[in-house]
Amino acid sequence: MTVETAIAGITPGTTWRNWGRSESVRPLMMASPSSVDEVAAIVRFAREREFTVKTVGAGHSFTAIARAQDVQLDVSRLDGLLGVDLPRNRVTLAAGTKLHRLPALLGPYGLALPNMGDIDRQTIAGATSTGTHGTGAHYPGLAAQIVAVTMVTADGSILRISETENPELLPAARLGLGALGILVDLTLQCVPAFLLHAVERPGGFDEVLDGLEQRVTAVDHFEFYWWPHTDGVMTKSNTRLPADAERHPVGPVAAFVEDRVLSNAVLALLCNVGRVAPALTPGINRLATRVYGNRTYTDHSYEVFVSPRTTRFREMEYAIPRAAIPDALRDIRSLIDSRGWRISFPVEVRVAAADENWLSTASQRDSGYIAVHRYFRDDPEEYFRGVEQIMRGYQGRPHWGKIHYKNAESLAAVYPHHADFVAARDRLDPDRVFTNPYLDRVLGV
Ligand SMILES: Cc1cc2nc3c(=O)[nH]c(=O)nc-3n(C[C@H](O)[C@H](O)[C@H](O)COP(=O)(O)OP(=O)(O)OC[C@H]3O[C@@H](n4cnc5c(N)ncnc54)[C@H](O)[C@@H]3O)c2cc1C
Repeated sequence: MTVETAIAGITPGTTWRNWGRSESVRPLMMASPSSVDEVAAIVRFAREREFTVKTVGAGHSFTAIARAQDVQLDVSRLDGLLGVDLPRNRVTLAAGTKLHRLPALLGPYGLALPNMGDIDRQTIAGATSTGTHGTGAHYPGLAAQIVAVTMVTADGSILRISETENPELLPAARLGLGALGILVDLTLQCVPAFLLHAVERPGGFDEVLDGLEQRVTAVDHFEFYWWPHTDGVMTKSNTRLPADAERHPVGPVAAFVEDRVLSNAVLALLCNVGRVAPALTPGINRLATRVYGNRTYTDHSYEVFVSPRTTRFREMEYAIPRAAIPDALRDIRSLIDSRGWRISFPVEVRVAAADENWLSTASQRDSGYIAVHRYFRDDPEEYFRGVEQIMRGYQGRPHWGKIHYKNAESLAAVYPHHADFVAARDRLDPDRVFTNPYLDRVLGV
């Protein structure tokens, strides 16, 4: 080890795998810096040797977006709350802070994120850099809450981007795919902490699709899951309540049974049965529609938004104009039926408000999301490519962290600001210190 690598804490690479087990790599070197100076030293070290640097968060992307070739930079030691601006409800977080730490960090200040996705295992920088979102017609993805970032750029210098410093870069830097620089901290616009009143009910496929617009606008956060090979869906309608409203949480035993046992262990079992005996899948799915989703409870927002996910899977998710969701889902249903596939995982449908981030899946468009999944031991490609073909017809934009087969040219056709983002990348990283094959594919070399 040279003096420089010792200073920067760089060690030989070991094998890294993502959560969905769709990607693995053994980078040349790895580093886990604990300060901004160390991050800058690693970037300078790499640049002088013409190595690339790829930052990795919690490895929860299904795509190769976080795959490092030369130097893998793990930001998990950049962790914690760095500042609170109470009059404005803003917080500054170190980039590697995991979302599940936020209730403890923000709770004492009476603050919360306005919306969250299905899980909270991601880092704040990783989640926002890929456009992670939850559901809610009036609520955009997490990155829309970012009001400022601090970034280590390709020459190892520090760049502030905020409403007053380099503001023209904000729509790119909030959701930057890790392509522009290494985020070391992010300042987020939060909201006063709140509760959610959750109503989970079974519904019929046609009934829910026919009334979808009314359902998504009637409550703050609406989503549903459709079980392929059935007419059944499970709806989730969450209404925001003040923090001092009465809580009626799911009891610990019921939570354990529903979230851990039913949603995860039984799902894994069903997936394995479906693998060895695919013909049983439709019957299993029909059973699932009867077992899941008939409960009402009220709890802290983060308890309701997030669920544990212990059964590994692979996922593709597309954003399309919200009004197109019923037609697109019916097309997917016809595709599954016509191809004779046996799909054991439910299809998830959510919505989000338009935002201004250049590479947001909801950029300047109120969006509906359709997510398809396959058990991680099943090959997803035929199913995912078939669904992607349908999404093409609806001007679909793929989630950056979920499997898709698009390239820069086809993405530029659906993202009005794709070229602006590429120009920002040319400005901040002209020598492509932060690139990897995935970024070359979706942004160009
Ligand atoms: C079980 C499961 C459930 C999920 N649920 C949802 C959901 O409900 N909604 C949704 O939208 N998505 C969801 N996702 C996708 C997930 O939120 C995203 O893939 C997210 O990027 C993962 O965050 P991460 O910390 O693991 O980042 P990683 O996957 O490790 O990295 C993602 C990208 O962020 C970049 N990055 C990380 N840190 C930095 C940094 N400090 N500076 C610059 N770039 C950085 C990386 O270089 C990479 O390009 C889910 C994924 C899984 C596995």
